[in-house]
Amino acid sequence: MSKRDYYDVLEIDRNASKDDIKKAYRKLARKYHPDVSKEENAEEKFKEVKEAYEILNDDQKRAQYDQFGHAGAQSQGFGGGDFSGFGDIFDMFFGGGARRDPNAPRQGNDLQYTLHLKFEEAIFGKETEISLPKEEECDTCHGSGAKPGTRPETCSHCNGSGQLNTEQNTPFGRVVNRRACHYCQGTGKIIKDKCTTCDGVGRVNKQTKVKVSIPAGIDDGQQIRIGGKGEPGINGGPPGDLFVVVQVAPHEFFHREGDHIYVEMPITFAQAALGDEVEVPTVHGKVSIKIPAGTQTGKTFRLRGKGAPNVRGYGQGDQRVKVRVVTPTKLTSRQKELLREFNQTEDNAPISEDDDSLFKRFKKAFKGD
Ligand SMILES: [Zn+2]
Ligand SMILES: [Zn+2]
Repeated sequence: MSKRDYYDVLEIDRNASKDDIKKAYRKLARKYHPDVSKEENAEEKFKEVKEAYEILNDDQKRAQYDQFGHAGAQSQGFGGGDFSGFGDIFDMFFGGGARRDPNAPRQGNDLQYTLHLKFEEAIFGKETEISLPKEEECDTCHGSGAKPGTRPETCSHCNGSGQLNTEQNTPFGRVVNRRACHYCQGTGKIIKDKCTTCDGVGRVNKQTKVKVSIPAGIDDGQQIRIGGKGEPGINGGPPGDLFVVVQVAPHEFFHREGDHIYVEMPITFAQAALGDEVEVPTVHGKVSIKIPAGTQTGKTFRLRGKGAPNVRGYGQGDQRVKVRVVTPTKLTSRQKELLREFNQTEDNAPISEDDDSLFKRFKKAFKGD
């Protein structure tokens, strides 16, 4: 098969700038990189692109190619020597150090668990035990994956590195392609006699119980970190952590914002006008408050220290009680009579001094008509 023109390969024209060449190369190398590409013949195309780039990106080689074509380029003997063709590109796209030693100790994964709490449970805290499915080290083989009395062997194909190099000769020398070893799946070890309990994995799924101490005052969305209760480490590494995320159910009438608790308290028109002493529920029990005569709807009373404790131990929130004056909707004829009578008494003006300026302005406006 004859070689394609390098400019055609990079899909650029003959007077493309160095910048154009770089751009075209990056685009195509990404498209055809054999480790990520799903294109047909990606590996072949990738090599073709790389080769075209090696030549056209070098001013001297490019000039020779322009003058002599492929034959000229090869007979001039440029290129040559060994280079690791894919490693540098891999680093360019995926960051260096992407391939790590499969035998190095690694920390286990962190786990997350959502714990549902009632409103009061979050305020007062509690000791509880949660049960979660979790990977644990296999008791039979103690994590090695090998049948008791045997051990995993070092993979002879990759000598325990977990990587295999495939080499290919190109006009520019040997191209080395590194890939995960498929004999050992990149672990560097071969288990001949697998542990039957875990089927050679070294870990088993278990329903595990963990004690959790919920601090008083915890709020919706906050999380508790339990060190070392995540998944087990690999190759003797430390285990991960468990994060318990708290989800607090809303309350029927309490509403919480930070450490303060809010509640709305309905009172009658008569209680608001005449004043009264009423009982208010709090999470700490009932508290009685004095409603002064002439209380308006929306007025808020503060009950110091009747909120939630601060989760970090900085004191205690308040409860805020907002009163709502309820207009009666069902009146007996006797009640209606009394209210009509009340409404006609001049001395007991229904609107207080504070508000009557607005009321008077309304009256004036209508008189002016
Ligand atoms: Zn096992
Ligand atoms: Zn191997």
